Amino acid sequence: MVKIQEWVEDINERARTKLGTGRVADYIPALAEQDANKFGIAICTNEGEVYAAGDAQEPFSIQSISKVFLLTLSLRVYGNELWERVGLNPSGMPFNSLTQLEAERGKPRNPFINAGAIVVADRLVSAFATPSKHLRDVARKLSGNESILIDARVQESEWQHRSRNAAMAYLMKSFGNIDNDVDQVLHSYFSCCSLAMSCVDLAVALNYLAADGHAQAMGEPFIAPDLARKINSIMFTCGMYDAAGDFAYRVGLPAKSGVGGGIVAIVPGKLSVCAWSPALDENGNSVAAQYALELLAEEMVRQQLGH
Ligand code: GLN
Repeated sequence: MVKIQEWVEDINERARTKLGTGRVADYIPALAEQDANKFGIAICTNEGEVYAAGDAQEPFSIQSISKVFLLTLSLRVYGNELWERVGLNPSGMPFNSLTQLEAERGKPRNPFINAGAIVVADRLVSAFATPSKHLRDVARKLSGNESILIDARVQESEWQHRSRNAAMAYLMKSFGNIDNDVDQVLHSYFSCCSLAMSCVDLAVALNYLAADGHAQAMGEPFIAPDLARKINSIMFTCGMYDAAGDFAYRVGLPAKSGVGGGIVAIVPGKLSVCAWSPALDENGNSVAAQYALELLAEEMVRQQLGH
């Protein structure tokens, strides 16, 4: 569809007016080196067509977007048993908050805040010999891109600056909610966050959430339709941390952001989209990528109304 290519090009131009607003994450020093002037957007339709504009082919650190892959893999292994370890409600707190975790006896609010993803990573350490390699291989299959890598520099930088995540992991271990060695779990979690993928890779890889669990690049079902629906629901309520409500109001789509500046959003039954720009707002969500998704949502409403 020519129209979608026009959309992404128009969004690329308009979202770039936001460049210069926000700040690149620097609490992980390797991420501070990112160029704040990058912007990319890619759409993958459920028919398998890909439309891209700007820096959409450039790999970036997917960071918390990996929490969607972690959750999917873990639900495939453990099913509903997973919810004994982690909750299903918005946290209303920053993604790396410790206070709630203490008050709620080591059970994180949801799988998309850091503590929740660390619990999910622990579950995967119990299930797989090398969870991060498994996740990397799944990302390769789902995106159809065999060259996807874990960025060792980012991974090492996260490890060197792990104090806060380590504090959460030890606190949860003290409550009996982490089974494995904390260092091993953290290594796995950081490796998954350090996957480098482009907007095109992510839009294609996560299209299974738009397509009732059917994986575009694999040409086969990846998860059950009902599971895709449920993961979308968690993304809708928890995917943007304490800004989930604001984002739902502005965009109204299930989405997951990462501090590398990427945001993936899902239009169930239609398409998956990834927008990326490294500079973040105070909640850790990319300023230009959020704006791009807002423009896309508005455009889709206009199309539906035939304007
Ligand atoms: N790896 C990052 C961290 O642990 C992920 C956070 C994010 O993307 N919000 O802090």
